[in-house]
Amino acid sequence: MKELYNQMNLTDPVINYCTKITDSLQERFKQIDEIAEYNQLKVLKAMQKFKVSEAHFAATTGYGYNDLGRDTLEDVYAEVFQAEAALVRPQLISGTHALTIALSGNLRPGDEILSPVGKPYDTLEGVIGITPSKGSLAEYGITYKQVDLLEGGKFDYEGIKAAINERTKLVTIQRSKGYQTRPTLSVEQIGELIAFVKSIKPEVICMVDNCYGEFIEKIEPTQVGADMCVGSLIKNPGGGLAPIGGYIVGKEEYVENAAYRLTAPGLGKEVGATLGINGSLYQGFFLAPTVTAGALKGAIFAANVYEKLGFECVPNATEPRYDIIQAVTLRSPEAIIAFCEGIQAAAPVDSHVTPEPWAMPGYTEEVIMAAGAFVSGSSIELSADAPIRPPYAVYFQGGLTWYHAKYGIMMSLQKLVDKKLVTIEE
Ligand SMILES: *Cc1c(COP(=O)(O)O)cnc(C)c1O
Repeated sequence: MKELYNQMNLTDPVINYCTKITDSLQERFKQIDEIAEYNQLKVLKAMQKFKVSEAHFAATTGYGYNDLGRDTLEDVYAEVFQAEAALVRPQLISGTHALTIALSGNLRPGDEILSPVGKPYDTLEGVIGITPSKGSLAEYGITYKQVDLLEGGKFDYEGIKAAINERTKLVTIQRSKGYQTRPTLSVEQIGELIAFVKSIKPEVICMVDNCYGEFIEKIEPTQVGADMCVGSLIKNPGGGLAPIGGYIVGKEEYVENAAYRLTAPGLGKEVGATLGINGSLYQGFFLAPTVTAGALKGAIFAANVYEKLGFECVPNATEPRYDIIQAVTLRSPEAIIAFCEGIQAAAPVDSHVTPEPWAMPGYTEEVIMAAGAFVSGSSIELSADAPIRPPYAVYFQGGLTWYHAKYGIMMSLQKLVDKKLVTIEE
């Protein structure tokens, strides 16, 4: 093993240091494996229940009427999420789009959205119209209120109670911290928040942005009262094989409303060809529990590697995890660039290119990104990105296998060591 590591540009100090860290994590990894096994059987059971068969992998074209594969996949998703219905489509082109459809399908002029967990994910700002944007919900007369989390990530129950009014139609709860510093919410915490909201206004729609959270726990937000759960297929539930797509699961009525918005009023779920990708969506969903577990191990490994070297990690090395994102504060532009170079050098695709910071649309500072993915932009695959600004934190996620995530982190450390930005004491 060591010889192969050496051939793949890792030096002995890095190998020895990382081997010790890996050895110390075995107990924790056992718990992750146990959740992965549970979720694997959950998915398998649903596929058996709905008699998934070879015919479901056939391509449809044109309108896509009677796409049995598509309809059955939606049954499988609904079953796994313990929801009434699901919309799982390549026509939902990303997580942001799935959230946009879930919102715009269920809101009408005069309605108000409430986020009781602070600012939503960056791309949602334009969708809702928090930052003015053409076609935003704000332009359609839908208003928005926000209640920030209290110190330590606690819910501001009094603030939430005060914010709910006769126009509050939908409450949006983002499970993952995204690129913020607040903690990610557990499914249990989400359940408590939903119960509180419903105690004040039972008819309000509770929607969860489930991005990066799928299969981390044994239950999903739809099992603790969420009316809708929304996510991206190029994150956890696509298992790395889905080439595109998003999902919306939840109450029949709300999923249907979303479908009428996605296609057309009156058409809804009846149309939408799948063009031959059904097989990948099924197989990806089948692999998703183990793929997610691998990514989770990688995130925990990264926190342990970097925290012991004196860098702040969110989540830290020991706390429980509710998503696959790892933030590491490296404290200098040189260090985040070196980290990203290591992740890129470890990729199966484009390992020979060097990532550089660039002025990305929608960001005020330059951003550096490392991704050598089979599916463009897929963040269940090993990837890292960092805005070039203090405190110089890098956000890292994914890895289709634990071994790849591990090697990627080792390479990131190797680059930091090579550039003398970190020293490992032997
Ligand atoms: C990734 C993400 C989104 C948006 O998904 P895209 O597929 O990138 O559009 C929304 N919310 C959260 C919390 C995310 O992590």
